[in-house]
Amino acid sequence: MDKDCLFCKIIAGEIPSAKVYEDDAVFAFKDISPIAPVHYLFVPKTHICCAKKITAENSQYVAKIFEAIAKVSEQENIDSYRVINNCGEDAGQSVMHLHFHLVAGKKMGWGEQSLG
Ligand code: 5GP
Ligand code: ZN
Repeated sequence: MDKDCLFCKIIAGEIPSAKVYEDDAVFAFKDISPIAPVHYLFVPKTHICCAKKITAENSQYVAKIFEAIAKVSEQENIDSYRVINNCGEDAGQSVMHLHFHLVAGKKMGWGEQSLG
């Protein structure tokens, strides 16, 4: 746990969130500013700043996150979805705790324009 990290505080319950899933390695909750009808954030229950810091020692968290995404999307009958990881400032990462956005419930574009 990083005492200055927003998502570590959410995982610890110090800051409230709308939880959608939890297991020993993964915590998932609704994004506070959704960009689609379904917009959840999946985070590892250990502080990893970003995708750059994924290693052989911690990559099991990433596997567990994708397992959790498959479970939640099946339970909620979400047939089509997009998983997004922003890494670094130019890519739009605003919270420095590794997270994967699960976005669904609308038709999504692809290509240069969808990058904003
Ligand atoms: P990033 O821009 O780093 O890829 O994604 C961070 C996400 O965290 C944003 O989509 C933002 O809306 C969400 N977010 C920021 N602060 C909070 C918060 O306090 N609670 C929740 N549930 N989401 C947050
Ligand atoms: Zn953290």
